[in-house]
Amino acid sequence: MKKLFLLFAAALLAATCPAGVFAQFKIGGKKIDAGKLLNAGKDVAKAVTLNDEEIARLSRESVEWMDANNPVAADSTTYGARLKRLTEGITDADGLPLNFKVYLVTDVNAFACGDGSIRVFAALMDLMDDDELMAIIGHEIGHVVHADTKHAMKNAYLASAARNAAGAAEGSALARLSESQLGKVVAAFTDAQFSQKQEYEADEHGFEFCVKHGFDPYGMANSLDKLVELSKGAKASTVQKMFSSHPDSEKRAARMKEKADAYMAVQRQNR
Ligand SMILES: [Zn+2]
Repeated sequence: MKKLFLLFAAALLAATCPAGVFAQFKIGGKKIDAGKLLNAGKDVAKAVTLNDEEIARLSRESVEWMDANNPVAADSTTYGARLKRLTEGITDADGLPLNFKVYLVTDVNAFACGDGSIRVFAALMDLMDDDELMAIIGHEIGHVVHADTKHAMKNAYLASAARNAAGAAEGSALARLSESQLGKVVAAFTDAQFSQKQEYEADEHGFEFCVKHGFDPYGMANSLDKLVELSKGAKASTVQKMFSSHPDSEKRAARMKEKADAYMAVQRQNR
């Protein structure tokens, strides 16, 4: 879903954040080719082992890097207060403690990191109503709960290690990453391409998350619909290329609508 969110960034630049600040995924002005990085990672995957503890540390460092390099909304701001209100009482996911922050950036995106950090971008909040936003947050948490993020993080680190960290390539413990290496890891995992199966399962999680926390069961379906609609708007040509890499978004939306319909039917029967 992340790619799908990102592709609206250009189209919405003028309409959303006045500051026009993009999230910092790029180092030294160079765009990171996440696909290439991830492929490079596969080559050294056998040579390097990263245990869960090391991945957890890498997750924490990555989020610290993101928080330090992006404008974080204070709780007193409109964005900060809205997210705080929506996530009140949502403290953990399967025992993993959660923390939430808004980045005041124009990218249409959100991500969840393996350490339980959820980061929502202001431009996404502009687009989505409360239920849709919480469905997307639930979807991102799903990637963490299902360990998709852990694997993406690992691949991203391995890719970075393949290029730079000789120590890691020898199979030693996790090397301390330099600032720029960490940036590359962050870029690769926040832009990770998950499989269709992983996206379906994250959608399910988004749906369950809404039901569990009292949000609209149609939130997941509606948010996916909204993204599909936006891709057909006036600026469609600018997003066409990236959107074509997500041909199944409409199918995902339909699937989530069916799920919500079934849920509502049961609710009506039980009444
Ligand atoms: Zn996803």
